Amino acid sequence: MTSVRTTCPYCGVGCGLVASPPAHGAPALIRADAQHPANLGRMCSKGAALGDTLDLDGRLLHAEIRGRRASLDDALDAVARGFADVVAKHGPDAVAFYVSGQLLTEDYYVANKLMKGFIGSANIDTNSRLCMASAVAGYKRAFGADAVPNDYEDLERAELIVLVGSNLAWCHPVLFQRISAAKAANPKLRVVVIDPRRTATCDVADLFLPVTPGTDVLLFNGLLNYLRREDGLDFEFLDAHTRGIGAAMRAAKDSAPSIPGVAAACGLEAGDVAEFYRWFAATPRTVTAFSQGVNQSSAGTDKVNAIVNVHLATGRIGKPGAGPFSITGQPNAMGGREVGGLANQLAAHMDFAPEHVERVQRFWNAPAVATKPGLKAVDLFAAIETGAVKAVWIMATNPIVSMPDADRVRRALGRCELVVVSDAVRDTDTTACAHVLLPAAAWGEKSGTVTNSERRISRQRAFLPAPGDARPDWWLVTEVARRLGFGAAFPYRGAAEIFREHARLSAFENEGTRAFDIGGLAELSDAEYDALAPVQWPLPAGAAKPRRLFADGRFFTPDGKARFVATEPRAPQRLPTADLPLVLNTGRIRDQWHTMTRTGKSPRLTGHNPEPFVQMNPGDAAACSVGAGDLAEISAAGARVLARVEVTADVRAGTVFVPMHWSTPFASAGRVGALIAPITDPVSGQPELKHAPVRVRRYAPAWYGFALLRTPLDARDCTYLARSRSEGFWRYELAGETLPASWPEWADAVLGPRAERIELHDRAGGRYRAARLAGGRLQACLFVAPTKQLPSRTWLGGLFAHDALDDASRAAILAGRPAKAGEETGPIVCSCFSVGRSTLLRAIRTQELVTAEQIGNALRAGTNCGSCVPELKALLAEASATPA
Ligand code: SF4
Repeated sequence: MTSVRTTCPYCGVGCGLVASPPAHGAPALIRADAQHPANLGRMCSKGAALGDTLDLDGRLLHAEIRGRRASLDDALDAVARGFADVVAKHGPDAVAFYVSGQLLTEDYYVANKLMKGFIGSANIDTNSRLCMASAVAGYKRAFGADAVPNDYEDLERAELIVLVGSNLAWCHPVLFQRISAAKAANPKLRVVVIDPRRTATCDVADLFLPVTPGTDVLLFNGLLNYLRREDGLDFEFLDAHTRGIGAAMRAAKDSAPSIPGVAAACGLEAGDVAEFYRWFAATPRTVTAFSQGVNQSSAGTDKVNAIVNVHLATGRIGKPGAGPFSITGQPNAMGGREVGGLANQLAAHMDFAPEHVERVQRFWNAPAVATKPGLKAVDLFAAIETGAVKAVWIMATNPIVSMPDADRVRRALGRCELVVVSDAVRDTDTTACAHVLLPAAAWGEKSGTVTNSERRISRQRAFLPAPGDARPDWWLVTEVARRLGFGAAFPYRGAAEIFREHARLSAFENEGTRAFDIGGLAELSDAEYDALAPVQWPLPAGAAKPRRLFADGRFFTPDGKARFVATEPRAPQRLPTADLPLVLNTGRIRDQWHTMTRTGKSPRLTGHNPEPFVQMNPGDAAACSVGAGDLAEISAAGARVLARVEVTADVRAGTVFVPMHWSTPFASAGRVGALIAPITDPVSGQPELKHAPVRVRRYAPAWYGFALLRTPLDARDCTYLARSRSEGFWRYELAGETLPASWPEWADAVLGPRAERIELHDRAGGRYRAARLAGGRLQACLFVAPTKQLPSRTWLGGLFAHDALDDASRAAILAGRPAKAGEETGPIVCSCFSVGRSTLLRAIRTQELVTAEQIGNALRAGTNCGSCVPELKALLAEASATPA
């Protein structure tokens, strides 16, 4: 295979990439696509490291039935038989699919068609429910359609960007890069960041509003009220294109009558709130971009509508550089919305109105189209637990890690009669519960389309052969459909056929009534589909080019007018108590994706944060008697997470932040979803993943340690274990509650033969250090102590790159530090060029560097994807504040 233009499989930015298959012993080469409109030649650390994630280590290559390898035919037969039996005995609502924003649109389309059109239930929901269901619901309430009004160029055309609940710098890094570049090019562009946590995104903020969690509706109601008072409303637009301003304004006046009152309730300075309101009122070209910080809330839909309200009130929608812009989390969350992958949608932006059901039934020639919404994610797993749903097929997602009340999800799957999991990865928390495993093709092996946050459809193209029995998800679903007797409706031989049908359905009896119309792509030949360039919807048949949504002021409501929604501020449903005094906030980190099944394979990506961590405000840390580098136990509802403590004023007092990524293969107790109650927004069904009361206490094990090894470790007697892959070795952070009788004996399983071991054993002090060398090459080392005071791992880790250690290094191993000063690199900051914190600080001080550009010139850090630039600036500030 030769190079292909394809799309990154991670975040919703949907960057175009150029991928070249491995050749002559070199790994696959992944570059940013300069021609793709989403990224224009940029990419982030995750995209840059995709080549590290493509090996077959850990892949699910063959089907399994109850833990035993099976032929794909037998496994597909078992799935079809199991689903058919349950439907025959208990009806179609006793089965379900739980799918994923990782699927391609073509996979999604056939899964939705099978469940909603042929099995006859709407019990198909997606992990996108956890990510952007509130944005969908908010847009539908306001516009009559799930239609994101903006494109990325609006971020460059704007003169004010308001980022709400959105850490773009880490979660959508290329958009952050685009905004940074736009700011450099346009001094008039201002950025306001609204977030309870000071994140790397604040690097571009002209104003940061560290809002009290859950008060976003109040802040935007206050803005609506301010616009009224300060003559900031666009009455012409209001009269011609909207309805409902009266009720919305009353709600705003009642809840947010004054700036000081808003500021006090939101935990902000009144002057800052006034500044934000003034800037908003004075800047017609304003984009408000929002993400999971808005959506993942029991009031998420109202938060979205409070944001949309101020854009409608000022007529700032449908115009260049203006609009309320939902930035989706996943690469194909939008594609899932297009096909109807949420349980409360039918297909192609139709819902369960009788005329929609009848239309879709005719189009599919389907025997049993679902006539009512199915179970949304949280309700779906609750129904599995009660036995109401008896068979579930989980595709490309890991709900035992990502769902709230994650231990209950595990219990539910443990009781379910039939759990089918199709995945590319063999060992996840969820595959461990499967009765049938189906091997799915991974990124790079399958072809289809995805739609990014700006409604741009792009091709993902295969450039690697599918290994073992792995097949595209659409193929697996189609084979089961055939076995269920629906072969005539699932005749597909390739993704292009599915895409054409999907496009035809979008246009079927549409006539401008539904926003999603890609009839202009319905007649693509296979060759044209193969060559399809990125294109935005809507693109009806006959349209010369995509048009800006809402440019004509017409919306998708019956009368064509947008709707204001009266939004009453509501507190998060679970508030802190004496027993659970802190609020847990969750989210992504810069270099990991979801449950780490892919990014966890890249040494470049694990170096930045090798173990789960909890960020705490200094006051809370002191109150909980924890300090930086301690282990903390974060607990609630009978579950606990163990994580390394970071003390930082970036998180508000009373809140803690723990990343969402760690799963059982990577950490013994890192599944943050287990701490979060299954509370949802009443409209969208999206869980409140960013506001869970917890308690934090110092975790005081009997011993701390770490091991670095060339081969994975079978660790024993560890109550804390975090595993990460580094260049040439595995890193294990360890702790245990009981001391072994003998450290040298305990170390046998870790280090191997004692004959090749060097060791240092301080019995009285409880310290043990040992390493095994073979042929002068470091094979493994283990450091154990009664406290967290242990040597840096980075210098020791660097020794694994050497085929033979020199005498000085060999002699220094058990000291855990280099014989010569200056060799310690410190934790990774720049993943692209593996530049560590200590190296950076040394260079800043010795070379008197004062800008990120100078650091780039000296060390290359920050010059590839740029994701670490905010951290480089923070190090510059740290170095100037604390000269060596
Ligand atoms: S910003 Fe990074 S993770 Fe997101 S699509 Fe682009 S390269 Fe992939």
